[in-house]
Amino acid sequence: IEKEKIRNFSIVAHVDHGKSTLADRLLELTGVIKPGAEQSQVLDQLQVERERGITVKAVTASLNYTYENETYLLNLIDTPGHVDFSNEVVRSITACQGVILLVDANEGVQAQTVAVHSLAKRNNLTIIPTLNKVDLPRANPDRVKTQLNSLFHIEPETVLSVSAKKGWGVKELLEAVIKRIPPPPVSSDSHFRAHIIDTWHDKYRGVLCLAYIHSGNIQIGQSVRWMSDSKQQTVKYLALLRPKEEPIDEATAGQVVMVGCGPKGGGSVGDQLVSIEFPTTEINSSTTPVRHMVYAGVFSADKSQHTLLGEAIKKLALNDSAVSVKPDSSPALGQGWRVGFLGLLHLDVFTQRLLQEYKAEAILTAPSVPYKIKVKGAKLIKHYKGDEIIITNPLQLPDPHNIAEYYEPFVKGTIITPVEYIGAVTTLCIDRRGSPLPSSVVDENNTMMQFILPLSEIVVDFHDTLKSITAGFASFDYEDYGFHKSVLVRMDILLNGTLVEELSTIVHVSRLEYSARRLTEKLKEMIPRQMVQIAIQAVVSGKVYSRETIKAYRKDVTAKLYGGDVTRRKKLLKQQAEGKKKMRSVANIKIPRNTFIDVLKR
Ligand code: GDP
Ligand code: MG
Repeated sequence: IEKEKIRNFSIVAHVDHGKSTLADRLLELTGVIKPGAEQSQVLDQLQVERERGITVKAVTASLNYTYENETYLLNLIDTPGHVDFSNEVVRSITACQGVILLVDANEGVQAQTVAVHSLAKRNNLTIIPTLNKVDLPRANPDRVKTQLNSLFHIEPETVLSVSAKKGWGVKELLEAVIKRIPPPPVSSDSHFRAHIIDTWHDKYRGVLCLAYIHSGNIQIGQSVRWMSDSKQQTVKYLALLRPKEEPIDEATAGQVVMVGCGPKGGGSVGDQLVSIEFPTTEINSSTTPVRHMVYAGVFSADKSQHTLLGEAIKKLALNDSAVSVKPDSSPALGQGWRVGFLGLLHLDVFTQRLLQEYKAEAILTAPSVPYKIKVKGAKLIKHYKGDEIIITNPLQLPDPHNIAEYYEPFVKGTIITPVEYIGAVTTLCIDRRGSPLPSSVVDENNTMMQFILPLSEIVVDFHDTLKSITAGFASFDYEDYGFHKSVLVRMDILLNGTLVEELSTIVHVSRLEYSARRLTEKLKEMIPRQMVQIAIQAVVSGKVYSRETIKAYRKDVTAKLYGGDVTRRKKLLKQQAEGKKKMRSVANIKIPRNTFIDVLKR
C-alpha cells in the first residue's frame, strides 16, 4: 500500500462523549463487525474497561474503506479518555496525523475537551471537530458550535454532526478523515525504523508490540535490533489489528502494525525497532518520559501471596508502561513495592486489574506525591551526584538543616462549570492552596476557570468534592505544571514517645496545624484501647502540634472468664492470636494493620 492511501487518526473526547460507540460504528461501516453485533464497544477489551466504561489501554484497528474507487487503509487508534491516562494518549498521538475531536452536543465542551484539544494542537494534528449525540432531543448543536468557536476559534462551518448511536453522519465523518487528514509524512525508501507505542504480553509468543513505522519496510524473517541494545533479533510475528490479528508478510512506512520478535525478543514502549543496517547516529527519539505524579505502597494481603503479587505486578507493569515499580518494605506491612502512577484513577485501575486478571489481592497505602529538595552540602547525601533529590517517601527526607530549598509538584487545573457555582469552586480551589488564572467565557451559562494547584491537594478527593459542590455539573482536568518552590516539613507521629515510621508525612506549613489535628484524632479512633495508656503526638522537629490520649483498659479481656467456660475462653484467645498477625507492635502498643492504610485517606 502506498502511503498516500494511509490515514492514521484517533478519536479524542471527554469521558462519555461517545468515543467507543463511534469506534464501533466505524468498524461496522468498514465491515469489521456486523451491524448490531452483540459485542459492542469492541475496542474496550479489558474487563475493567467494560465495568467502568472507560478505555484504559489504547487499541488500534486497521480499517479498509473504499472512497471514489480508491481503497484506503485507515488506522484508528483508540485512545483512553481519562485525565490519568494522558500518557497513553500522548503515546498513541505520536503515530497520528489527525484527530476526531468528539463533543457531546447536549453536554457541550468539558474540561477534558480543552485538554485533548490543546494536546492535538501542540502536536500539529489536523482536528476534525465533531458533535455527537445529535439524536438527543436536548442536543443543542448551535450552542456547542458557539462554545467551540469562543474557546478554540473553530469555524462553525467546519464542524460535523453525528449520532454514533444511530449511525447518522458516520459515513461523512469517515470521508472527512480521508479528505482532511494528510497521509503520514514518511518515506519507504530508507532503512526500516519503527517506534513502539504499546506492548502487551502473550503467553506463547512473548512481548508483542504495536509499532508505527517511520521509514522503510519490514518483513517476516528480517533481521532487526532494538535501539536500546545491539543484539540481533528476527521479526517473527507481523500482523494488522482489525482489531483481531490478521497476519501479514510485510508492512511499509506509515503503517501501524503488530510486531513480535519471539519470547526472548524483547520490546518496550518508547523504544525503536530498526533494521540491522540502520546507522546509530541518525536516531532521534520522539518519546517524552513518563512523569509519575502519585506513589503508593503495594503490599500483599498475606505473606503466602507475596510471590504471586510480585509476578502479577511485573506483568501488569509490562503491559502498562506508565507505572514504575520499586521494591519497598515496611515494618507494619512487610515486603512490598513502591509503585508510581500517573494519577489516582490509574492507581485504582491498576489494583483492579491485579485482582481481575491475576487474582492477586493487594493492599495499597494512601497515595502521596513526589517532592524535590535542594540540599546544602551535596556531599552529605549518599548516592546522589547532584544537589537535587526527588523524595517519594517522607522518610527519605534529610535533616532539615541540610535542606536549602523545597519544591512540590503543581498542576494547571481546568474546570468548566455553570456560572452559578463560580463562588463555590473558587472557595474550594483557594482552600486547596490554588492561585486563580484568568477565566474564559464558554457560553452565557458556563465558564472555564483555571487554577495553579499543588498536586498534593488534588490527589486525594478533589474531583469528588468538586462534583458534589456543583451538583455534578463541573468537569475537571489537569496538566503538569512542574515543580515549584514551597515550604514543607516532615510531620512525625509518636506513640508514647516512639516514632512510627509509616505514619510520617510531608505537609505544607500552612496545613500543619490542620493535618496534625486530623491525624491524631483519626488515630485515636482507629487504635483500640489497650493495657496501657497511649499518648498520640504529631511532632515536627521536636515540637508537638497536636496530642490525643487513649485511656487504658482496666482488666484483661479474658479475666472475667477464668475458671469459667473453657471453650469460650479458648475461642477468645484464638481470635486474639489471629488478630495479632494483622497487628504491628510499636512500644508495646498494638496497631491494627489497616490503620496504616486508612489513616492518611481523607
Ligand atoms: P466514551 O466514554 O467516550 O467511550 O463513551 P461511550 O461510547 O462509552 O458512550 C457513553 C454513553 O453515551 C453510552 O451510554 C452510549 O450509549 C451513549 N452514546 C454514545 N453515542 C451516542 C449517541 O450518538 N446518541 C446517544 N443518544 N447516546 C450515545
Ligand atoms: Mg470508551
